Amino acid sequence: MGDLKLNGVTKDFGSARVIHPTDLDIRDGDFTVFVGPSGCGKSTMLRMIAGLEDISAGTLEIDGRVVNKLPPAKRGIAMVFQSYALYPHMSVFENIAFPLRVDGLPQAEVEAKVNRAAEVLKLTERLDHRPGELSGGQRQRVAIGRAIVREPSVFLFDEPLSNLDAALRGEMRVELSRLHGHLGNTMIYVTHDQVEAMTMADRIVVLNAGYVEQAGTPLELFHRPANRFVAGFIGNPN
Ligand code: ADP
Ligand code: MG
Repeated sequence: MGDLKLNGVTKDFGSARVIHPTDLDIRDGDFTVFVGPSGCGKSTMLRMIAGLEDISAGTLEIDGRVVNKLPPAKRGIAMVFQSYALYPHMSVFENIAFPLRVDGLPQAEVEAKVNRAAEVLKLTERLDHRPGELSGGQRQRVAIGRAIVREPSVFLFDEPLSNLDAALRGEMRVELSRLHGHLGNTMIYVTHDQVEAMTMADRIVVLNAGYVEQAGTPLELFHRPANRFVAGFIGNPN
């Protein structure tokens, strides 16, 4: 399961309101992209969903249960950040296995889960290597492997490709779409890149200055933008 419901979710930092009251339904299995300019509140939104940031007002429900007070580890959510740190002295296997070691899983189970994740991410041949011996794309896949290995029902990605060059970014977009097709779980992907949003999303949420300007399918936004901001933003890919 991985249904999310935001009811009036709001974020204030001191006297600054950075997320205005937001209602949003995210259906189980959807690939949802939050897109908007830098500083509009994308990361803050993800961090509230992940439980890394308190919700100032409103409620967040996961599968019908209010989780405002639930710590990150108990939400069934995994997050992949823009800058990911792999352990350089550990093998790819141990990098992916790390969260399972923390959970104290028995070795046989660790091996089964890591091998499954590696297969999905086409890293099976690289499990004995160190991160330093991998390409940028492979290293990014190891970071994703570490997120999927606990089999969360919801994945959050915060601009995971923005440090990669254009060719690799294109390749990773395809990889992530494939991963979504394979795992079929809920994914929320944050980007400031309209092309990424249009090509990857089942559903796009356009954010601007802490407000949701529009939520809909890529085609809906393209053909029926709710306002000039959406029309300009979606219509002007960079
Ligand atoms: P985005 O990810 O879309 O670039 P952020 O969610 O990082 O935007 O930031 C949204 C707004 O909230 C920005 O104006 C930012 O300066 C502010 N902000 C983010 N984190 C904090 C914080 N810890 N304290 C105060 N202001 C913050
Ligand atoms: Mg951000």
